[in-house]
Amino acid sequence: MSNDPAPERPLAPADCDTRGWWDATRRHELVVQRCDSCGHAQHYPRAICTTCGGSELSFQLTQGRGEVETFTVVHRAPNPAFTAPYTVALVRLLEGPVLMTNIVGCAVDDVRIGLKVSVQWEPHPDGRNIPVFTPEGGQHGFPADR
Ligand SMILES: [Zn+2]
Repeated sequence: MSNDPAPERPLAPADCDTRGWWDATRRHELVVQRCDSCGHAQHYPRAICTTCGGSELSFQLTQGRGEVETFTVVHRAPNPAFTAPYTVALVRLLEGPVLMTNIVGCAVDDVRIGLKVSVQWEPHPDGRNIPVFTPEGGQHGFPADR
């Protein structure tokens, strides 16, 4: 038995485009970028709007809810910070943008395309929080392989 601390989940560093997004996670706020010119919502954060090329972008608070668009189950963890099996999913937020995330709080076999999910926060030692999603009560989508 080791007394070593649990391995730390690797996170991308915050840069000039993503700092506001990561800062919001410190407050348990899931935000997306909204273009001040055309209103397009996008994720991940970047310097320009992917629709009109505008450079005036703001962060907008989301409801933290969405639907599993697709997913895969990882059976061999690439890093000791992850415990397999786990689900990597693309969740389409109610506001439109898609977020790559994990589905937690249910068995990997219970994850379905169309599953309604809401955000939970996994704390990271550096003070940021990682948005992961859990099924909303009683909702079921369709199996990915049917
Ligand atoms: Zn735009």
